[in-house]
Amino acid sequence: MRRPFVAGNWKMNLNRADAVALAAGLAARATQDGGVDLAVCPPSVYLDAVAAALNGSPIALGAQNMYHEAGGAFTGELSAAMLLDVGCKYVILGHSERRHVMGETSEDVNRKVHAALAAGLTPIVCVGELLDQREAGRTAEVIAEQFTASLAGVSADDMARTVMAYEPVWAIGTGKVATPDEAEAVHLDLRKLIEDRYNAEVAAAVRIQYGGSVKPDNAAELLAQPNIDGALVGGASLKVDDFLGIARGALS
Ligand code: PEP
Repeated sequence: MRRPFVAGNWKMNLNRADAVALAAGLAARATQDGGVDLAVCPPSVYLDAVAAALNGSPIALGAQNMYHEAGGAFTGELSAAMLLDVGCKYVILGHSERRHVMGETSEDVNRKVHAALAAGLTPIVCVGELLDQREAGRTAEVIAEQFTASLAGVSADDMARTVMAYEPVWAIGTGKVATPDEAEAVHLDLRKLIEDRYNAEVAAAVRIQYGGSVKPDNAAELLAQPNIDGALVGGASLKVDDFLGIARGALS
């Protein structure tokens, strides 16, 4: 049985004081075993401060990105070891904004996935189609391509502890949410891809989050789908009530 996992992607929002206040507000209200795993992924400059605010709470820390090299002359980048050093457990990789705004390829994502896993971080690997790809009936093909290339060479054991996130790009930050049936169909496809590449046991172990305009009022219906194991939340993760409301939705 997969334990639901709800993670907040704060993106490039908040200042230091607001990030600490949000983390402290979440920490004060999150219960020790609420039946759902929770994580927040603040901007990297606030990871340390947010880690301190979360100390003693059940909320884990994640980063929004990393570089695949272990260290050296890579100006502006952060290594997996640095993220672990400030208390990260998770790292989001291949978010659509990294793919489509920063031009990251699935091969870039794959290098990062290997570096994260080797260091002991849990990657949250995002895949998702653009609106024109969905309208052209290419969703399954795009998801398969991104999955195959982003997870290339990952062992079965490492795959089983990797988190996937299906985030249709047209639903991110737009208020347009995939219907539970639309989302479930892609999650099921993704799980079949994992089973075909690995085996049924690995496919059953991998948690697949849905992301794209998840809010407290649509979370329960989405997360009730058999292959949707939680949510990767952008906008609504910036408010304590909304984020915890979504977490509750994972349990209903
Ligand atoms: C995201 O950035 O991963 C996301 C899903 O954003 P939003 O919830 O704002 O659509």
